[in-house]
Amino acid sequence: MKKCKKCNRLGTVKWCGDMRLFMPYKDYVKELIDNDGFSIVDGMYSIYDSCKNPDGCWIDDIISFEIQCPDCGRKYSLFADTYHSWFSFKKYK
Ligand SMILES: [Zn+2]
Repeated sequence: MKKCKKCNRLGTVKWCGDMRLFMPYKDYVKELIDNDGFSIVDGMYSIYDSCKNPDGCWIDDIISFEIQCPDCGRKYSLFADTYHSWFSFKKYK
């Protein structure tokens, strides 16, 4: 299956061990929803919520957001393992 235009220019991340970059990626996913028409598929947390508690700790060991491309239906997952301090943003299987 060929990727659609929207998916073609998506900046995915296989694995990133720097959690400081997670927030910029969360904002990126938010922009995909707000500006490119991607829809929110599922997830325990809202992309619009903060991922950190008032004390600065992550809200959970695992934080993930799933979105879907409006043109071809591909699903993507922004997944963070805050306990082991890494995240990824890639096609959701
Ligand atoms: Zn697509």
